[in-house]
Amino acid sequence: MRSPARLALNNGVQMEALGFGLYKVPPQDADALVATALGEGYRRFDTAAMYGNEVGVGRGIGGAIGDAAEANTGTGAGGSGESVHTLSREDVFVTTKVWNDDQGYDTTLRAFDTSISNLGLDYVDLYLIHWPCAGRGLFVETYKAMETLYREGKVRAIGVSNFQPAHLEELMQKAEVVPAVNQIELHPWLQQTRLRTLHEQLGIRTEAWSPLGRGHVLADPAILALSEKYDRTPAQIILRWHLQLGNLVIPKASSAGRIKENIAVFDFVLDDADMDGIAGLERHHRTGSHPDNVN
Ligand code: NDP
Repeated sequence: MRSPARLALNNGVQMEALGFGLYKVPPQDADALVATALGEGYRRFDTAAMYGNEVGVGRGIGGAIGDAAEANTGTGAGGSGESVHTLSREDVFVTTKVWNDDQGYDTTLRAFDTSISNLGLDYVDLYLIHWPCAGRGLFVETYKAMETLYREGKVRAIGVSNFQPAHLEELMQKAEVVPAVNQIELHPWLQQTRLRTLHEQLGIRTEAWSPLGRGHVLADPAILALSEKYDRTPAQIILRWHLQLGNLVIPKASSAGRIKENIAVFDFVLDDADMDGIAGLERHHRTGSHPDNVN
């Protein structure tokens, strides 16, 4: 296998290359979906204060690791059958993000306290600035608060999301800790070549949000042709492409079948010609907002 299932961040912290995304997962469904994903082998979860489902995510994880479930629900409920209580906290990797309205030093520290309380965890594995919101002029201060959390051991790694090259360059001039990750929209129709190159130069991992283009890229004729060639689903072809590029990837799915399908991507390899073929699908097509338009 060319792509390892785990990748090291610039501070040595290891994370699973493939995790589970929870944007638009209703709070009441998060617990069960996380439990299902844990049962299928996912060990990494991507949420955010803005998603409104941190409590449910924490319960799903807590059901599998025991103590946190008691802290969060008092019952230990929410696990997925056999996986309940078989994992320790260290086996699971949780990312959450500070929302735009909480940017600023003190407000970020408070937002973090709310997030870990919602999650029922003692620490978060990766804490990200959700959007740069450059118009607010607060992302450096926000990041300074995250550096404090990092030094205090409340987060194992810190990073950013939706940062454009100019935002990264400004941050790098003022930050003491190089961001471990920049989580950006990335899929075959939006390949983010410039940012990926910059990340490599700076030692920042690229994490792909909407890795399937919110499902739209699954119908691309070239992806369908590869699906037939490799006898894999379109989602598996795209996720495999991400992994071979070295991207961290967090597909979201709502059914047990798709959750299972999306992690079954570690037993085949796309050949170089097909990787090049997917590189040719670039359309500069965004399914989400452009970072300059979010403030
Ligand atoms: P994805 O690219 O992961 O696509 C999700 C969509 O694809 C859903 O409609 C899902 O359907 C469908 N899907 C998933 N698997 C399959 C499959 N095997 N076959 C067919 N359809 C499938 O989009 P997201 O926008 O959810 O991005 C993933 C994660 O990235 C988010 O959940 C979130 O954690 C993160 N994110 C971060 C952002 C940021 O600003 N930092 C912004 C947006 C996302 P269904 O749910 O019905 O199964």
